[in-house]
Amino acid sequence: MLPLSTLQGALQSLSKTYDLRPAGKLVIAVAILGKSRYLGVNEYRTHPDMYSLKASGIVVCYVHAEQRAIAKVPRQSRSKVSLYVFRVLKSGGLTMAKPCPLCQIYLQREGVEDIHYTDWSGAWRSL
Ligand SMILES: [Zn+2]
Repeated sequence: MLPLSTLQGALQSLSKTYDLRPAGKLVIAVAILGKSRYLGVNEYRTHPDMYSLKASGIVVCYVHAEQRAIAKVPRQSRSKVSLYVFRVLKSGGLTMAKPCPLCQIYLQREGVEDIHYTDWSGAWRSL
């Protein structure tokens, strides 16, 4: 399994834009294709619902980290990526980031097969 140090460069570029450790609320997805890295983060405070009904009656769709990362990968290459999804705690440790059922359907439809995520103990698991 991929050590987190391999993602260090990708994480550094992300950390210029995002606080990567807001109590583990940010999910980070990195799709690796050869030497290319495609990054995605979820929108803050959205999980687990992809849709929410605002008081105004407007339905808002939230995009998850996995979808953001994969959407950047050229369509014809999506079956060749390795996707890593993880969540960083304030302590710097990793915690649960299993793709939600809707993301799993999306990833399957896009042909992404090599999917890894961190579990509650921070260990990598494969879908
Ligand atoms: Zn999801």
